[in-house]
Amino acid sequence: MPTTSNKKWNEIREILHKLKDDTLREIHKTVKSGAETSTIGEPSGDIYDQASSERDRELGLLLGDREREKLHSIDEALLRIDEGEYGICEECEEEIPLGRLKAMPFARHCVKCKSDLEKLQAQTRRFEEERAYREIPLGGEEEEA
Ligand SMILES: [Zn+2]
Repeated sequence: MPTTSNKKWNEIREILHKLKDDTLREIHKTVKSGAETSTIGEPSGDIYDQASSERDRELGLLLGDREREKLHSIDEALLRIDEGEYGICEECEEEIPLGRLKAMPFARHCVKCKSDLEKLQAQTRRFEEERAYREIPLGGEEEEA
């Protein structure tokens, strides 16, 4: 089943799987320390070895947003590898350099587009801040026509 273009991402896959393991291990720790205070007599086996999607969902409730987002990004990246969409900039559809992907396996944009996007985001944020500032009521002293 694996095609040659898929094979290309074996290294990235490994990185992603390792990241996922690390994240799950972190979660496992959190869940375990939480479980100690509860009376549920769950065996302390490797819960993630037998993790079903049901289990994932349960775990999801216990996770912080950051971990959840990370797991989500990992799964998404793996999915994109499977679908042959991985490593292509979503903006300009250029291939993202492997070096960048190794450093940032979730990257969805090439360096150029990413920095463009960041500039845009910074601008938008500034704009929103300014607008929020301006929307602060100044005591209703507006002139009436
Ligand atoms: Zn791009």
